Amino acid sequence: MAVPQHAKGDRPNLLGLSLPEMTTFFADLGEKPFRARQVFRWLHQGGVDSFDAMTDLAKSLREKLPDVATIIAPKLMTEQASKDGTRKWLLDVGTGNGIEVVFIPEDERGTLCISSQVGCALDCTFCSTGKQGFNRNLSASEIIGQLWFANKAMGRDPKGERIVSNVVMMGMGEPLANFDNVTAAMDIMLDDHGYGLSRRRVTLSTSGIVPNLMRLKERCPVALAVSLHAPNDKLRDVLVPINQKYPLAELLVAIRDYLEAAPRDFVTFEYVMLNQVNDSVQQAHELVALIGDLPCKFNLIPWNAFPEAPYQRSSNNAIHRFREVLQAAGFVVTVRKTRGDDIDAACGQLAGQVVDKSNRAGIIKLNHVVA
Ligand code: SAH
Ligand code: SF4
Repeated sequence: MAVPQHAKGDRPNLLGLSLPEMTTFFADLGEKPFRARQVFRWLHQGGVDSFDAMTDLAKSLREKLPDVATIIAPKLMTEQASKDGTRKWLLDVGTGNGIEVVFIPEDERGTLCISSQVGCALDCTFCSTGKQGFNRNLSASEIIGQLWFANKAMGRDPKGERIVSNVVMMGMGEPLANFDNVTAAMDIMLDDHGYGLSRRRVTLSTSGIVPNLMRLKERCPVALAVSLHAPNDKLRDVLVPINQKYPLAELLVAIRDYLEAAPRDFVTFEYVMLNQVNDSVQQAHELVALIGDLPCKFNLIPWNAFPEAPYQRSSNNAIHRFREVLQAAGFVVTVRKTRGDDIDAACGQLAGQVVDKSNRAGIIKLNHVVA
């Protein structure tokens, strides 16, 4: 059986340790805090994956470290590049599971879309990850490993700035359902000795697990996107079943509260456009009334089809009309562009490979949508 990435025996995978955790680890070895910082920088700024490469560590320490720690990075399975610059990597995270990571270049930034879980338990009816069911949480090292990998692949621009400038947690899984590992990985993203990303350049997308949203406000407030998808509880209960537990009124109060601590003073609402399900002009008006004066932007996502889903993508006309109602009410609205069409990363259409040993045989193809 393959070894999970977070640990090998009882040796921690240093890739998943925050700087404070690394400092404690080195203190336990009788080493000074600056050693922890050196190793942390080698891993996340230098992109190395062996102790031998850490040339400014004392030789004795370099020789000792493999006995007490590991560095296990995700391995590349396949790689695709689109003509528009979008890149897609399938990474092996052990035990036969593959997760996809998508890099999307834009004029002013390079956005990396990463996953938090293999599969998802929340079962949104229009989402193929949801239809796949839940396989497992990704560890902190597997989450940060996606950024580690992409940084190595993309490198820096001529000014020395990293090409990957933004991260969105919009790949597979519900990040707030894997709270501890996701926040641990975000600590490393934000650390100046790690990736040095500002909180506004890291966006967490959630379907609305309200108690954990409130915890996120205290623990690690980053930019927020919320998957809304419906203007009332009756429809949202069907499309996003977690709404039955945390209905819209509760969710909207929690978002307003979250914004007090957030690095951006608005939330981005994602709204998937499903033909004749949630895309009428009347529903757009209902949405305007629901949102009121909550500071937000809307991102309308033309639905990406997958086999046997009971939906169709809204027509361009319907999307246009829906958008106009929101704009007339003063909201900023974007319609998600199709990117990486030729490599199935269209509008972030994401496919992962999962061997689910618990209850399914063989390789199941996921067909999922991200940012
Ligand atoms: N679980 C989180 C983040 C991952 S999903 C969430 O739900 O927010 C990222 C975004 O893709 C969400 O807005 C989700 O609703 C949307 N999405 C899922 N399946 C889709 C599909 N088939 N077409 C278009 N958007 C989809
Ligand atoms: Fe999970 Fe998000 Fe898909 Fe819903 S849309 S099933 S929360 S990944």
